[in-house]
Amino acid sequence: MLQTLTIIIPCYNEELLIEKTYQRVNNVLEKLANYESNIIFINDGSKDKTAEKLNVIANQNSNVKVIHFSRNFGHQAAVTAGINNTETDLAIIIDADLQDPPELFGEMLDLYNSSNCNAIYCVRKTRKGETLFKKITAKYFYKLMDKLSEVPIPLDTGDFRLIDKNIINEFKKLGEKNKFVRGLISWIGFVQIPFYYERDLRLEGETKYPLKKMIRFALNGIMYFSKKPLKLAIQIGFFSTIIALALLIYILYGYFFSNKAVAGWASTLTIVIFFGGIQLLTIGLVAQYIANIFDEVKGRPDYIIAHKVNF
Ligand code: UDP
Ligand code: MG
Repeated sequence: MLQTLTIIIPCYNEELLIEKTYQRVNNVLEKLANYESNIIFINDGSKDKTAEKLNVIANQNSNVKVIHFSRNFGHQAAVTAGINNTETDLAIIIDADLQDPPELFGEMLDLYNSSNCNAIYCVRKTRKGETLFKKITAKYFYKLMDKLSEVPIPLDTGDFRLIDKNIINEFKKLGEKNKFVRGLISWIGFVQIPFYYERDLRLEGETKYPLKKMIRFALNGIMYFSKKPLKLAIQIGFFSTIIALALLIYILYGYFFSNKAVAGWASTLTIVIFFGGIQLLTIGLVAQYIANIFDEVKGRPDYIIAHKVNF
């Protein structure tokens, strides 16, 4: 029996390129004769014509399925919905903007078949046409992630990857709401190997990750995979207590044994403001973890499906 292959494509306001994306992915799939393949598009609450265009494609092609969300729930929720709604042997997650070339599917599948593994994560050798700002922030985000995270999360990998049934089944059992997909897949384990490739330019439209979303995404990734920031708060507290004690000894010494007591409200104020700042910062940090617990405890679903097509 043929193995089944599902391509998972999250889409948010991608009307400019969704047809092209379908064409290119489908061309590649038609050449993969050894697989029974289908495509799941997740329409993540797009406000443009993405929904209509996806429905047209699905009506003409029975191997295309569409999941429409009730509103925008975010890229990670969309990928999660794709994984949760497939019963397949193999799945490949890919962005709708074709920065990750679908022409690589063949090579990825060959690598999967020739090396006893359960997942292939695609590592970017280069990032063509991305702004210097994006390149730098991405570089430091991945470095920081690597330092902080309690599970190894490979550098310079996005969600572009191939996963097999073992990983898919375990992923479906994960209970957390705010899923950082690439971290969780790495956390699941089994045998996962890298595949190096060149990342292209976005074909049309603009990035759906403005700075605000990027920061939220990065913070989520770090907080859900690391308790180290909390330890940092303790370390800063410990360090500043020692400094304060040393200062106290110095001040008392000055007061009792020399005539000139340490003068000036400027230094006092500086210290007060400095430590006020550190305290607020660390409280804020702790509060952020509590907010995450709050979100998890409420137990709301990661996404709501309005309707499905061709399922
Ligand atoms: N995306 C989504 N929901 C969102 C934002 C993005 O489904 O809220 C999709 C988007 O359509 C694309 C993928 O996630 O297929 C990656 O987004 P984008 O290419 O804009 O990110 P970048 O490559 O700039 O980091
Ligand atoms: Mg992109």
